[in-house]
Amino acid sequence: MAARPERFMESTVKKIVLELGADLCGLAHIESFSQAPPGFHPADIFSRCRSVVVLAKRLPRGAGEVNPRIVYNRANDLNILEVDRLAYLSALAIENLGATAVPLPSDSPYDYWDEAKSRGRGVLSMRHSAVLAGLGRLGRSTLVLNRQFGNMLTLGAVLTDLDLKSDPPAEELCPDNCGLCLKACPSRALDGTTVDQQRCRPHTYGVNARGFGVVNCNLCRTGCPLSLGVRPGPAS
Ligand code: SF4
Ligand code: SF4
Repeated sequence: MAARPERFMESTVKKIVLELGADLCGLAHIESFSQAPPGFHPADIFSRCRSVVVLAKRLPRGAGEVNPRIVYNRANDLNILEVDRLAYLSALAIENLGATAVPLPSDSPYDYWDEAKSRGRGVLSMRHSAVLAGLGRLGRSTLVLNRQFGNMLTLGAVLTDLDLKSDPPAEELCPDNCGLCLKACPSRALDGTTVDQQRCRPHTYGVNARGFGVVNCNLCRTGCPLSLGVRPGPAS
């Protein structure tokens, strides 16, 4: 690989990703992934990985104001494709710096499937990567909460052999006394730290009479008072 000035590499990589159209970009050094489960560590995917570049694209705010079935589902699907496109273009641009980069799928496809628990797992946990890269913290809904965009985010990641410093952790946003997401969940799938996919999936994902996939529930997202981020209060 060509020699490169490491000093400005973090800001250069983030500038590339943001200029391509991501709303957020953060960096997580490989050493911060010590808690990743076996088989789901970045180095299990790309052995020369030194850093994970994490990006996010916001969903339109209006997508959270409509019946989730068709319209939200389509917006969600398009945002996943957009994040995959951004990760792909970011990887190509990072390679133009003389590095090697691996774009990961935001949502699917993935291999891991536990039939008994209806539990899937992406090649890398985007939520945990986002936290390690300082993009937000996990709310009790298990969704990433970001101060500016709330939980209306789709996450993506690029692995690279560039040695990039991690961004500092984001602030905790869930108020101590809030549990609205747990109360809103009609299938009691949330316990404040995990989501029971066996309870959530049958309630949430379905097919309509025409055979189109639909999302029947997103209350853990839209029922959160911080779903659109931390809004400034009225001027005093
Ligand atoms: S999508 Fe619905 S069922 Fe699933 S965890 Fe969220 S609120 Fe519960
Ligand atoms: S509803 Fe409340 S507890 Fe749940 S994620 Fe949002 S702020 Fe946190």
